[in-house]
Amino acid sequence: MSLPDKQGHFGGFGGKYVPETLMALLEDLEKIFKSLKSDKKFKREFDFYLREYAGRPTILYHAVRLSAHLRTLKVYLKREDLLHTGAHKINNTLGQVLVAKRMGKTRIIAETGAGQHGVATATAAALMGLKCVIYMGTEDIVRQALNVDRMRLLGAEVVPVTSGSRTLKDAMNEAIRDWVTNVENTFYIIGSVAGPHPYPVMVRDFQAVIGREARRQFLTKEKKLPDYLLACVGGGSNAMGLFHAFFKDRHVRMIGVEAAGYGLNTKRHAAPLAKGGVGVLHGSRSQLLETKDGQVIIAHSVAAGLDYPGVGPEHSYYKKIGRAEYVSITDKEAINGLKLLSVKEGIIPALETAHAVAYLEKLARRVKRKASVIVCLSGRGDKDMDAIKGFIK
Ligand SMILES: *Cc1c(COP(=O)(O)O)cnc(C)c1O
Repeated sequence: MSLPDKQGHFGGFGGKYVPETLMALLEDLEKIFKSLKSDKKFKREFDFYLREYAGRPTILYHAVRLSAHLRTLKVYLKREDLLHTGAHKINNTLGQVLVAKRMGKTRIIAETGAGQHGVATATAAALMGLKCVIYMGTEDIVRQALNVDRMRLLGAEVVPVTSGSRTLKDAMNEAIRDWVTNVENTFYIIGSVAGPHPYPVMVRDFQAVIGREARRQFLTKEKKLPDYLLACVGGGSNAMGLFHAFFKDRHVRMIGVEAAGYGLNTKRHAAPLAKGGVGVLHGSRSQLLETKDGQVIIAHSVAAGLDYPGVGPEHSYYKKIGRAEYVSITDKEAINGLKLLSVKEGIIPALETAHAVAYLEKLARRVKRKASVIVCLSGRGDKDMDAIKGFIK
């Protein structure tokens, strides 16, 4: 059976747990998305923007000095940080904006936490000449002022959200409210492999270009497949983007790295696959951080892009069937990972990405014989210079 099934379930995870008013919208979207999958013109258009605008294919780079430092690992970096706007998120927003255009929508909305998805959405909307409204919690607007300026420069309206904890999950609720009210002309772009069906599949399919390219590039360079794939997991889109093309390559082991924040034994982390239970968040059934009576716990990570209490349903499924393994890295370890890649390779990664880099040292100790690994370098670190200022000697 191919997954997800008709209701969008990945073996018990996923689905669409939404009010009746949203059901029809999601079914429409699903129909269009399905028809576009075999639409050659759509595929050509998407490929064109990925290539000519975003800068694909990205480089698969053999990190020689980092590998020498790690001794047991031959490390390749999939350089999504070299894309326009500096991260993998643009793959998805370009794809969804093209779907919106096909549906005849003229207005794009999105929620954003750290502002990275907001910037990628505003960028794609500007490119296509579409109106763009971004919902953002007032707490995040203060913390991420630079990205707010970027979105406004790109022509987007940033709407402050003052309800709840005034962060990402409240912004998402407001965006959904807007969508229901303005569905005639409005398309809602979700930023990760989360949310109700068909979003997790749609986002995964737009990001899967990462793994398709990496697989081909690795085969050309090494004449075999890698032993490991490694990627950080917030909602899980860069990880699923890398993993998906390797699903059937049984001997290729996949490792997703969640944010352990101050530590898994504290309440301040963002590791629902390690420490969460099963529940429903933002229309989808998956692992999530919740209290015993089902209240969603606010997540913490030094990396704003990993700071989400849920995770995409397909990752919960990969974990359940044992296809991927999920580990975690603390704030402190991630900062060391950021420094390590900077000095060994001259590449300053995003703090999110630094979680995957940091795990390399643990993986290096785990492997017995020399092994090869592809790391998804999901984004560049310029945006994090303020956050890590106190740690630079
Ligand atoms: C947003 C972001 C992430 C986390 O999102 P995923 O959906 O888990 O990929 C990771 N890295 C960077 C650079 C990001 O901007």
